[in-house]
Amino acid sequence: MAGSKPLWRIWTMNLVGKDQFGRWTGSVVADINDKLERLFQRVQRHPSCPYHAVRCFAYHVAAQLDPGEVLIYFTTRRTNLVMRNGAPNLGPGGTTWQSQGGMISEIYVDGFLSNGDYLQQAANLAFHEAMHNKIDADKPRDIVHAEGSGLATGNQISGATQLSDANIRMMAANMARSVPQFEDAFHGIMIVDGMPYYIDSTEAPGP
Ligand SMILES: [Zn+2]
Repeated sequence: MAGSKPLWRIWTMNLVGKDQFGRWTGSVVADINDKLERLFQRVQRHPSCPYHAVRCFAYHVAAQLDPGEVLIYFTTRRTNLVMRNGAPNLGPGGTTWQSQGGMISEIYVDGFLSNGDYLQQAANLAFHEAMHNKIDADKPRDIVHAEGSGLATGNQISGATQLSDANIRMMAANMARSVPQFEDAFHGIMIVDGMPYYIDSTEAPGP
C-alpha cells in the first residue's frame, strides 16, 4: 500500500434540500460520498500517493480540515456559492473558483437529478472539481482540461465517464498539496444525516 501519511479526507457539504420525488435525500448523498471515496481509493493505490488511506466524510460543525484536504459543496445553479464570492460565471456541471476566502468547489444537483445514473455522475463531477481544486484553479494556466482524458475532460461528464490512468497519476502527485479551502458556507446551516437545515432563514432550497 502506498503512503507514509496516515489518512487523507475529502469532505462534502450538501446545501440542497430534499426533492419531491425522493431523488435527493440523505441516503442519496451518503451513496454519492461512497462512490467518491471509491474513486479516491484508486488514486490512493498509486505509488506516488503519499497517503495510507482515503475516506470521504460529510462536512459537519466540528470538522477540521487538514492541509491538503478538499471540501466539495453540493448546490444548485441558482444557489451557487462561487458567483456570490466573485466568480464571473458557472461551469456546466460544477465550478471551482479561488475566492478571497479560499478555494470553492461545487457541483450542481439540479443538473443531473433527471438522469438515470446520477449517483455515479455526481461522484464523477465531484472528482473533476477536486482535480481543479488541487491541480490548477489557483494557477494561471489550464492543466486539467489540457490533459483531458477520462474525468479531466472539459466536455460533458456522465455516470459512464471513466477515471483514466492519467487522472489517477495527476491526482496522486497532488494529494498532499495544500490548497486552503472555503469553509464559510456553514453559518446558519446545520447538516443532519446529509441534509441541510437552515437555522436562521427559510427552508433549504430544493433542486
Ligand atoms: Zn473542468
